[in-house]
Amino acid sequence: MGAGALAGPAAGEAPAATPAERAIAAHMRFLAGDLLEGREPGTRGYEIAAEYVRAQFESIGLETSYQPVEFRSAKLIEEQSSFAIDNQSLTIRKDVLLRPSFLSQTSEVSAPVVFAGFGITAPELHLDDYSSIDARGKIVLMLSGAPPNFPTDQRAFYSGSRLKEKNAAQHGAVGVLTMLTPIDEQRAPFAKRAQQSGIPPMLYLDENGRPADAIDGIRLSATVNQATGERLRAGEHTVAARTVSEFSKAKSENVIGILHGNVDESVVLSAHLDHLGNHVGRALSPSEPAESRLHDSIYNGAYDNGSGIACLIEIARALASGPRPKRSIVFVAFTGEEKGDQGSEYFARHPPIRPLVADVNMDMFLMLYPVGDLVALGGEHSTLGEIAAQAAHEVGFAMSPDPYPEEVRFIRSDQFSFVEEGIPAIHLKPGSKSLDPKIDGAAVTRDWLRRIYHSPADDMNQHFDFESGARYAETNLQLVRAIANAPERPRWKPGDFFAPK
Ligand SMILES: [Zn+2]
Repeated sequence: MGAGALAGPAAGEAPAATPAERAIAAHMRFLAGDLLEGREPGTRGYEIAAEYVRAQFESIGLETSYQPVEFRSAKLIEEQSSFAIDNQSLTIRKDVLLRPSFLSQTSEVSAPVVFAGFGITAPELHLDDYSSIDARGKIVLMLSGAPPNFPTDQRAFYSGSRLKEKNAAQHGAVGVLTMLTPIDEQRAPFAKRAQQSGIPPMLYLDENGRPADAIDGIRLSATVNQATGERLRAGEHTVAARTVSEFSKAKSENVIGILHGNVDESVVLSAHLDHLGNHVGRALSPSEPAESRLHDSIYNGAYDNGSGIACLIEIARALASGPRPKRSIVFVAFTGEEKGDQGSEYFARHPPIRPLVADVNMDMFLMLYPVGDLVALGGEHSTLGEIAAQAAHEVGFAMSPDPYPEEVRFIRSDQFSFVEEGIPAIHLKPGSKSLDPKIDGAAVTRDWLRRIYHSPADDMNQHFDFESGARYAETNLQLVRAIANAPERPRWKPGDFFAPK
């Protein structure tokens, strides 16, 4: 990590700085404090965080509300679950990670395995991994991710595990096994995934009380380690698995603050408020990053996404003190992002105000060094890209193409929930250019993603270049204000892949 004035244990001590920098630091310090216990949806820590954001919105003068979301949480009962290849039992969490079922408490399957490449059907990119196999009644084994030669955002789109499971179900498969590509094993190793497999996934419940988008017909969903994957790939095998899951209900909410404009159209500025929670007793293995062994069990989520919420509040404050915008601006703090963009999906499908013409999302602004450039995830698909480039230019950021396409970030945060509903969306991230020539931005970022990301070490004892944070907030402010006041609402590029068909 770069040696800055804020490095080391005193990192939380904000120096004398501008009001915006101090405010961002202060919000992050509160949200990432141990008191909030990692802000997992359905916990007291999340409720306190939500009350904090709502109170901030109120003090700013926004029209505030909670949008309640009901969830089913599914926990795997490991002792009662099993996984065997040709009657030989494997060890859960060592060889295989079983995902709990959301539809039945006991789910059993026994079927032959067939290898299905990446498990992708993408006619416009001339790939159909199912063209030469018959998946009916079988368990499909697939590689994680999507081909690296796909355009970046389509690579992200097709790598989505829910889309892949849906595709498998449509081809008659009864189970899905995923093995990690070397790229994904580097990015998020099987061992790290194993440690986090105890954090229960959640799906929101639709009007009928059914977990939204739970996929019928798939009776096994699991990730296998490299050795198991190679073994299954090499020969003909039958897998028999039993998944026992325990369901519970959780309630959480999106926090909404509206700044009313003069016309009946709204621009959304969003950031997720939730994080991974407090998981006492989580197994610490020798492969665990050294940092997290020094830490407690609380996933504080300072960068992820205390940084985005801090910017959200300060942008709201600045915009509310200015002239009334033409379009309304809806500031939203989402729940359930870490559960798979659940709060944003609920919001995009049940907007409290319509029509929504754009979403600008902020998630995990890494200010690990003086940030020199920004990347506009999703920018090239709509007119939002040009508006963002203008805003970045005015604040003094260069614009760069995504230096980390393997992270498939376009689908990995809340902006994608809007794209799925046909609403143009954009998400500005740091690029890899450091204004300090002694710091290699790309190396520092990759190192952070590997060691700190989604670990208890993402707390306030890190380096934060709050000056970059304040400039990032300023860029998003200018972007949102420009969208709100533009003569025309944003448009998809003609014939764009993500434009509604
Ligand atoms: Zn996250």
